[in-house]
Amino acid sequence: MKEYVMGNGAIALGALSAGVNLVAGYPGTPSSEIIETISKYPHEGLHLEWSINEKAAMEVAAAAAYSGARSLVTMKQVGLNVASDPLMSLAYVGVKGGMVIVSADDPGPISSQTEQDTRRFADFARIPVFDPSTPEEAFSMIQDAFVYSEKYHTPVLFRPTTRVDHAYGAIEYDSDFRPHEYEGFVKDSSKWVIFPRLSYNNHGMIEKRNITIGEDFSVNRYNSISLGKKVYGADILKSETAAGRKAVVATGVSHSYTKEILKDHPDVRLIKISTPYPFPKDFALRALTDIDEVMVFEELSPYVEEQLLKLAGENHLPVKILGKLTGHVPHNGELGTNLIAGILKEYLGIETKDTRIDTSDAPSLPVRPPVLCAGCPHRASFYAVKLAMKGKKTVYCGDIGCYTLGNAKPLDMCDTCLCMGAGITMAQGFYHTDKDTHCFAFVGDSTFFASGMTGVVNAVYNEANITLCVLDNSTTAMTGHQPHPGTGRNMMGNVVDKISIVKILEGIGLKKIITVDPLDLEAAVGAVRECDEETGVKAIIFKSPCIAISKPAGKCEISNKCINCKKCIRELGCPALITVDGNTVIDQALCTGCGLCSQVCPVNAIS
Ligand code: SF4
Ligand code: SF4
Repeated sequence: MKEYVMGNGAIALGALSAGVNLVAGYPGTPSSEIIETISKYPHEGLHLEWSINEKAAMEVAAAAAYSGARSLVTMKQVGLNVASDPLMSLAYVGVKGGMVIVSADDPGPISSQTEQDTRRFADFARIPVFDPSTPEEAFSMIQDAFVYSEKYHTPVLFRPTTRVDHAYGAIEYDSDFRPHEYEGFVKDSSKWVIFPRLSYNNHGMIEKRNITIGEDFSVNRYNSISLGKKVYGADILKSETAAGRKAVVATGVSHSYTKEILKDHPDVRLIKISTPYPFPKDFALRALTDIDEVMVFEELSPYVEEQLLKLAGENHLPVKILGKLTGHVPHNGELGTNLIAGILKEYLGIETKDTRIDTSDAPSLPVRPPVLCAGCPHRASFYAVKLAMKGKKTVYCGDIGCYTLGNAKPLDMCDTCLCMGAGITMAQGFYHTDKDTHCFAFVGDSTFFASGMTGVVNAVYNEANITLCVLDNSTTAMTGHQPHPGTGRNMMGNVVDKISIVKILEGIGLKKIITVDPLDLEAAVGAVRECDEETGVKAIIFKSPCIAISKPAGKCEISNKCINCKKCIRELGCPALITVDGNTVIDQALCTGCGLCSQVCPVNAIS
């Protein structure tokens, strides 16, 4: 059947078509829809899970691959940092069944902390990486990735970027997905137990094997040379493409942009490199023959540019390599069609079409900074802590999730945010270096399970004095409301026992744990004060469901008792509280009737 699907959907369908037996991952934009798509096709012989974090996902999938099963792991690029410990070792041990790790990169970054490049991780771990340029290509390429993984007994990285993940393409597939047949785990400690001797031997083997993979990649069907609309395979003879003296190299989605610009320029050689590591040297050498200058377009780091420089040096090629390192292409952000067109206009002296829409006569859009939703219970939690701690010396350590938005004014309740789970451990660092500061850590329920728990153990063991605030909205809200161990259901569609955050904290040894509804402002403020008076590690579970998936309580309105003091607007920053002709009103389209503002109003004008 043929379907018009998102790039992440294409990756999912590709993995299913390859007979994947086990899929594990942790949600993170831009990768989350891969597992969500797979969940729509449950069938015998397929296990699917949101793991508690990327490291757990990698290890679950590794065991499946040791058994000969085909396994897929999905995450965003910063998730690969979390999973890097098993990844680095797994690269040495290898796999039996095909194992593909999708790590979605986020140039921009649009929804991430970093602009890191997964291709560097492939090089670092010495494992192959595929770099798709369209959803259609991602569909077939991931099937090849499983084959390569099995052929060379290595985990393989697959690195789409945001625009490939979120673009749409027409995918033709057979919906009768047949799980891959596999042998099962065969014990052999000389193979599966990573002793130093094994690592030493396998390291040598891996370096030799990667030369072979590089040669194999040199004839890979996704590496190509095109002249205008004509595309040639990687094994094209140089004479057939030796046209102009200037060439362009492009990778990933940058290739799609460049191809569009150069479609009417058959005199310009466009070289596509879709398998950046191990670098397809023979292909690149053929592609660069008779070329004087080459411009490289790739998002994130100048990885391919560096490989070409090395290759040119090793082979004394008289070719000038231009790109990020020479200042012709920006290092940061995405490379859009217009940006590439502008660079090519100058580089090739060609006329390029500006595809931008003229918006000069359009009214300017209102400024819309990211903000907690109207009725979001996190707003109430932050406000309660703020009220309770007024006048005291505090530090508020935030974390990764919707609640990072607690940093916005007027709440201004997020002094630090580093990476998943870091708020809890950073609060400890602040306490140990300044005992007079009241140190708070805010963490969401999903992040608590992902990487918060160990930080709490550390706090208890090392005698920190901190208040942990778990903002428990019973979902993984920011990435699309995925379930987690506290929600009572999993990706196999089963209802399972909820894992209690309170019981975990009790087990770790916390003596003071208060669960409170943050929308009951008085009780919430009282809970914060009570915890703050205790020494040691104490916790407040602010429990209230995410407003995006719960039924709103109704609507609130402002009566004529209002004295227009604007305290509600000034203190809460709820987007439903607005001014019309200077008067404070509630936008009925946005209000969820959470009632927080009615508890703030000094004259009880809101009900
Ligand atoms: S806090 Fe009450 S009185 Fe003041 S503007 Fe808001 S609704 Fe009106
Ligand atoms: S009740 Fe008040 S705080 Fe809650 S959503 Fe409506 S306007 Fe916002």
